[in-house]
Amino acid sequence: MLTIKCAKCKDKLLKYNKIGQGRVLKCWEEKISRIYGKVDDGKLLCNNCGNLIGEVKTRGGRNYIDMNREEFTYSGRKIPK
Ligand SMILES: [Zn+2]
Repeated sequence: MLTIKCAKCKDKLLKYNKIGQGRVLKCWEEKISRIYGKVDDGKLLCNNCGNLIGEVKTRGGRNYIDMNREEFTYSGRKIPK
């Protein structure tokens, strides 16, 4: 489980079940176990500072957040495949 945080203010954004060791580029809705940030008008924003973290998109009927690489950090463990 990863805890994804805002790069600017370190406020928590998501708890995410990242599978595999790849970079965190997309956060698929079904693997998000908790959202602390704010989803507004198809955007994920930091609740604390309003930083734009990513945009909600859909592929093959599944929603994901297309993450802005510069705007977040994370800690925790990725799940081995
Ligand atoms: Zn923030």
